[in-house]
Amino acid sequence: MTHHFVIIGGGPAGNQAATYAARLGARVTMIERDVVGGAAHLWDCIPSKTMIATGGAISFSHRIGGMGLAETTPSVDIDALNRRISGIKDHMRDDTTELLRSQAVEIVHGSARFTSPHSVAVTTAEGERTLEFDSALVATGTRPRIPEWCQPDGDRILTTRDCYPPKVFPESMTVIGSGVTGVEFVHMFASFGADVSLVVSRQQVLPGKDPEAAAILEDSFLSSGVRLLKGARATEIERTDDGVVVRCDDGRQVSSSHAVLAIGSVPNTDGLDLAAAGVEVDPSGYIPINHHCVTNQPHIYAAGDVSGKLPLSSVASVQGRKVAEHVMGLHTVEHRHLDYDKAASAIFTEPEIADVGLAEAEAFALGRKIRVTKVPFATTPKALINNDPRGFVKIISDPATGVVLGGSIVGQHAAELISVIALAVTANLTVTDIVESLLVHPALAEALAQAAE
Ligand SMILES: Cc1cc2nc3c(=O)[nH]c(=O)nc-3n(C[C@H](O)[C@H](O)[C@H](O)COP(=O)(O)OP(=O)(O)OC[C@H]3O[C@@H](n4cnc5c(N)ncnc54)[C@H](O)[C@@H]3O)c2cc1C
Repeated sequence: MTHHFVIIGGGPAGNQAATYAARLGARVTMIERDVVGGAAHLWDCIPSKTMIATGGAISFSHRIGGMGLAETTPSVDIDALNRRISGIKDHMRDDTTELLRSQAVEIVHGSARFTSPHSVAVTTAEGERTLEFDSALVATGTRPRIPEWCQPDGDRILTTRDCYPPKVFPESMTVIGSGVTGVEFVHMFASFGADVSLVVSRQQVLPGKDPEAAAILEDSFLSSGVRLLKGARATEIERTDDGVVVRCDDGRQVSSSHAVLAIGSVPNTDGLDLAAAGVEVDPSGYIPINHHCVTNQPHIYAAGDVSGKLPLSSVASVQGRKVAEHVMGLHTVEHRHLDYDKAASAIFTEPEIADVGLAEAEAFALGRKIRVTKVPFATTPKALINNDPRGFVKIISDPATGVVLGGSIVGQHAAELISVIALAVTANLTVTDIVESLLVHPALAEALAQAAE
């Protein structure tokens, strides 16, 4: 009998697991209550990066004065922007659906919950349907965390999911939370001309990231007029006639037309009745997994954000693929464990920030000897040609062997350039391997080769 693999959730983790398991010979059913492609396509990565790209075009227009062109200020057409975001989302949903169908994956539109260790009930528009399975994957993602002191209204008090784009473009915006999502929203609204304030609970934006990268970003924010309220925790948001007032625990307050919460996520595990399948969750509701993404039930897997590992679409996809390999028994011959410490990540601000592998602070905390080399982009002709010399490439390597352990990049195209360091970290390449690569000239990647010297 063909192995029946049931997947709950059609985001990056669910999709990858579905297509790959089907290719390997499983009978696959995917249950999605909303849109195939998941929150990643509908609410998170794709719409935010689409808006950031448009904001980036506006920022670029402010730099063309230095490129021999007369400066102009483009005006935002909110309807056209909305159509563009919807167009990209629809295109991606259709492409993903077609790929799944081409692999004979059955897509069931509905909301799933477990009824036993080998069955789920799906509530669909046509009624309830029961599916029996040999193995199952929970890939239900997360949703924005709403604190008890504030109730978003989708109008002036927003979650990140109310912003693509908001009904009325904000004149002023207070962003609460200075992690990756918070700073991307600051950049997004500031580049569209909003007057932005950022509530930063610590003394540095992007806690846990390279302090030099965070400092460059803070300078960039300050020079574009962003107000930073450091060391402050928001404790209350009051609606006024024409906006909101955000109050902080140190007595400071800030008024703006809108406020957006970017204070993390909670897992979509409530309503799944995981107890019926005997699947355990941790105190925060995430599903603990082992290195094969297996839960405490050997035939039930969890992948993507709901697994509480790195909340990145890229990581969710690779986890999904690993799950498919394990379900079909391939792990015994070809499986390589996922090393979350080697995942590259990027922050789509201006300048972009990307990093991978071991960070300097982490190495010091571990007492590990490292070699750190840093080269500013300003030393490359391409940065001058592009009229944007901001940022640097930093490579961290083992002083004894030259093996690349990590790195960070701040500047134009950092999200693309980090791939070189990510490959080196994953494949245990040395700095000499990077130096001896015959790279393009003129290119920003030349800073990589210099930093590896
Ligand atoms: C604003 C923002 C920007 C981001 N940008 C990036 C980025 O640039 N790059 C990056 O790598 N990551 C980014 N992320 C993170 C990324 O969105 C997530 O890591 C990714 O979506 C996780 O994928 P997933 O497969 O776990 O779940 P999701 O994409 O969340 O999909 C889960 C799916 O499960 C469905 N579902 C839930 N419960 C049920 C149920 N009971 N029955 C049926 N279906 C159900 C949901 O409808 C949803 O479609 C961003 C996140 C945010 C908040």
